Amino acid sequence: MCGVIGVFLPGQMDAARLTFLGLYALQHRGQESCGIVTSDGSRLSAYKDMGLVAEIFDDERLARLPGRIGIGHVRYSTTGESSVINAQPLLVRSRYGLVALAHNGNLVNARSLSAELQASGAIFQTTTDTEIILTLIGRADAPNLEQAVVSVCRELKGAFALTIMTADRLIGIRDPLGIRPLVLGKLADGFVLASESCALSTMGAEFVRDVLPGEMLVIGPDGLNSYYYGGHGAESLCIFEYVYFARPDSILSGRSVYQTRLAIGAQLAREYQITADLVVPAPDSGVVAALGFAKESGIPFDLGLIKNRYVGRTFIQPAQSMRDLGVKIKLNPVGPVLAGKKVILIDDSVVRGTTSAKTVRLLREAGAAEVHLVVASPPYIRPCYYGIDTSSTEQLIAANNSLAAVQEKIGADSLSYLSLEGLHKAVGSGANRMCRACFTGEYLVPIQ
Ligand code: AMP
Repeated sequence: MCGVIGVFLPGQMDAARLTFLGLYALQHRGQESCGIVTSDGSRLSAYKDMGLVAEIFDDERLARLPGRIGIGHVRYSTTGESSVINAQPLLVRSRYGLVALAHNGNLVNARSLSAELQASGAIFQTTTDTEIILTLIGRADAPNLEQAVVSVCRELKGAFALTIMTADRLIGIRDPLGIRPLVLGKLADGFVLASESCALSTMGAEFVRDVLPGEMLVIGPDGLNSYYYGGHGAESLCIFEYVYFARPDSILSGRSVYQTRLAIGAQLAREYQITADLVVPAPDSGVVAALGFAKESGIPFDLGLIKNRYVGRTFIQPAQSMRDLGVKIKLNPVGPVLAGKKVILIDDSVVRGTTSAKTVRLLREAGAAEVHLVVASPPYIRPCYYGIDTSSTEQLIAANNSLAAVQEKIGADSLSYLSLEGLHKAVGSGANRMCRACFTGEYLVPIQ
């Protein structure tokens, strides 16, 4: 998972600062590396490094990125290891001039494309699938960059939401199914693109609309133009964006993430009647669903776990040993809230099961009499190949164990998952067209 930003400010040289603000609002989508490329009309300047947006960029650094156009990226590695060489945006010199590109998503035909390209002499510096896109663009025999991008995007398979820039224009493009989100915002003088609408208010931009599946927006000297290059208009946004990834204050595809999570919580309370004293969220990802559950069930909501908000997501650290350590650093139970109580613990999802097992143990150690784990999504049974890093099926606890076995491994008194129909109800119309491969195994783009 990653986040991308694009900024077009024809009258001002402050694209870097605005790109920075956008990335800052998308930090939840990736904490490994970040980068910004800007253009002053002829020259492109770039800076990227490993770390959080606010660690990498300061006033001095931003001042060295002059320009009216900018793109930015926060990275959470899917294809390619976590190292600075793979940080984005990527910037290359090509037959279409200088081109920079930032990618959210994951291609499923990356391996075959890369092999074909290498057989014909292409060389790669990174292990990302993003470099494949740029290489294909550089080799496309097209009259201009826009047409090169379109012809390449027709060959790509999988998920991609891209921001691309040259010296004088900004391009935003989404895959034909619209698996990863991308929105367009308007400034008094200019436009912005962002993975999620929450970044628009941070950038002082007004929400205009989602970039549509199979649509390419070109913002340049001729203003804003839209082209459709593929797809049939039906969107298959990733449903897990609503469950976990997106920030609750974002509106994705016309639906509020916050209200969707509240509805998920309420739906869970209708699906499971559990006798308990408290509803406690796993912070922060379980908070809104827990509120929805508490409101619907009438069981009091309380904060039994406090998160150190200066620690990044535990899942983000690739090694298991680090993850084990991370959970302890991250969460602390509040003894007086929990002592002697029958607790319903709400978390957004159980993937490997490591986090929930530790959280349940924390609650018990703090004196909870019973811990009932209620999961705000269906069992996660298949890996995502479209941009969420969930490794292989062997690591997915629900794919390899019965409900009772998962409950035992996690150590909960009961374990309840949201039904798929319940998730559909909460998300609303169109949910059955969305990408739900992680819950169903139905991959909308065949895996190669
Ligand atoms: P675990 O079951 O230990 O793999 O952790 C699952 C928890 O990590 C969930 O409750 C989410 O809060 C979070 N999570 C789920 N999917 C992802 C993902 N792809 N990347 C990062 N965090 C995730």
